Amino acid sequence: MVIIMKAHASKTSVDAVTAHVKELGFTPHVIAGVERTVIAVVGDERPVGTDTFAVLDEVERVVPILHPFKLASRDFHEKDGVITLANGVKLGGGGLTIMAGPCAVESEDQLRETAEGVAAAGCRVLRGGAFKPRTSPYSFQGLGEDGLQMLRRVADRLGMAVVTEVVAPEDVAIVAKYADMLQIGSRNMANFALLRAAGIAKKPVLLKRGLGSTVNELVQAAEYVLSQGNLEVALCERGIRTFEQSTRFTLDLGSIPVLKKLTWLPLVVDPSHAAGERDLVPSLALAGAAAGADGLLIEVHRDPRVALSDGQQSLEPRAFAELMGRLRRVAGAMDRAVA
Ligand code: PEP
Ligand code: MN
Repeated sequence: MVIIMKAHASKTSVDAVTAHVKELGFTPHVIAGVERTVIAVVGDERPVGTDTFAVLDEVERVVPILHPFKLASRDFHEKDGVITLANGVKLGGGGLTIMAGPCAVESEDQLRETAEGVAAAGCRVLRGGAFKPRTSPYSFQGLGEDGLQMLRRVADRLGMAVVTEVVAPEDVAIVAKYADMLQIGSRNMANFALLRAAGIAKKPVLLKRGLGSTVNELVQAAEYVLSQGNLEVALCERGIRTFEQSTRFTLDLGSIPVLKKLTWLPLVVDPSHAAGERDLVPSLALAGAAAGADGLLIEVHRDPRVALSDGQQSLEPRAFAELMGRLRRVAGAMDRAVA
């Protein structure tokens, strides 16, 4: 349940409510707004009625949560969330944040040239995998810590933030050392040990929807991170597996307004993995922006023909720059700016 305090409730009352929440064996999560404080009660609340808290001083109302998630719910946090990444880049809160770069970091030259291309087109967040979750154990697995160092060096030189994937709980600390945002990939969406470790790391998290997961399961996965006290979580729609074979995955555009209604978490669309082919990427990117995404995650490679992973769906820097122009026009039509 969520306890909504009266406007300008005193600290004494807020403290008394959180103390009572703890006494009953629950964990309180307090969000102090300008006017109002809201306290989410985490734990199995079934044996306890809402009256237990409704009678306390300066409590306005107590909302039982019907969704299987609380902290991610709009009932907990009404306004859209905003995540601040490095170098002044923000995700959420009205702008359209573009994150672009290669699927995998392959070498410093490959990363630098690609990053220079996307930065010249106005992109402020560099993506690139140093730890790659490949379907085949024989495919390129990433450069590990060397790749992370390259990401940091190149991004800092260009004034960009870094988003990169972490695939195992034991790697969270090393990835968090170099990255501004930890990507948890589709194949790991339900890796609960990894979600908990990312929650403890207190770094912004980009959580991708599992390729066979529902919207509800995605939000519950986010709840694992949030419940560790890390409220900087963004969700990513990257396409799901359906009977349709003409795209690599089916981009579920409907999930965008649904997630916007259910949650306050910033939402990113990845048109590249959904499309599977570079020709289809611009249309899906534009559709994602028009449907209300806060950000786009786009694969770009300086020379996709020699890419070690996902070359087929990677844009060349020139095509990416052209897409940025079109994205600016779509965002402008919606009174939003591209960052
Ligand atoms: C990626 O972003 O390169 C990636 C592996 O994505 P996903 O987890 O969505 O397949
Ligand atoms: Mn990829």
